[in-house]
Amino acid sequence: LLSKRLQAVASYIPKGSVLADIGSDHAYLPCYAILNGLSKEAVAGEVNEGPFRSAVQQVKKSGLQEEISVRKGNGLEVISPNEVNVITIAGMGGQLIRDILKEDQTKLEGVERLILQPNVAAHLLREWLWKNGWRLIAEVILEEDGKIYEILVSEKGQSDSLYTEDTQANLIFGPYLKSERNEAFQRKWTYEHNKRKHVLNEMKKGSKYENNEKIQDLLKEIKLIEEVLNWQD
Ligand code: SAM
Repeated sequence: LLSKRLQAVASYIPKGSVLADIGSDHAYLPCYAILNGLSKEAVAGEVNEGPFRSAVQQVKKSGLQEEISVRKGNGLEVISPNEVNVITIAGMGGQLIRDILKEDQTKLEGVERLILQPNVAAHLLREWLWKNGWRLIAEVILEEDGKIYEILVSEKGQSDSLYTEDTQANLIFGPYLKSERNEAFQRKWTYEHNKRKHVLNEMKKGSKYENNEKIQDLLKEIKLIEEVLNWQD
């Protein structure tokens, strides 16, 4: 059975799609997408030998060699332009996912939807999507085994008006997540708030408290988090 996290990713794969799952590891996601009638064909991309072999084995074990092509290579290198219409990239840092997307833009030709699950630094992805003509159509935040994950679903299209107001907060917290403010969201940002408070206290103990830019930044972030969590009186 797929993890709650990957199931949430899979729930945004449209029926009849041709999928590329980049950094697929065991290829659980493309196997699930084919077995559940979401995708008709898929590519599982892996850059590392160990995970590549796991993917080959899992695809064979599931009897899906006809439907899933397991390929070894870096990022989008494993697909051709117009080969797939949906790309999933999950379980990596936001910066790495962004770098994979920006490395070779021709590979995004024909891609209609990106489903991205950054473990950290989702704001870097939101910013890249926004500046490169991808609009955010949905976001998910969920907790599994004590960890909190974010999923960004994006479609090629006109410029995204979600960011025209309150840009910074939207990029950091996510425009959908921040208006929904579910339990996982509150937990994440309460934790991030505490973390910053702690750093701030440690810095106050030091001698360079005044005039410190880092402290000003921390104070700004703390205030922003308090505003979003509605802790203002
Ligand atoms: N996508 C799966 C998931 O969400 O459960 C696996 C996540 S695993 C933590 C990250 C995988 O990405 C690893 O198997 C790693 O080898 C692969 N990876 C890292 N950088 C990559 C790149 N540039 N191109 C392709 N795969 C990459």
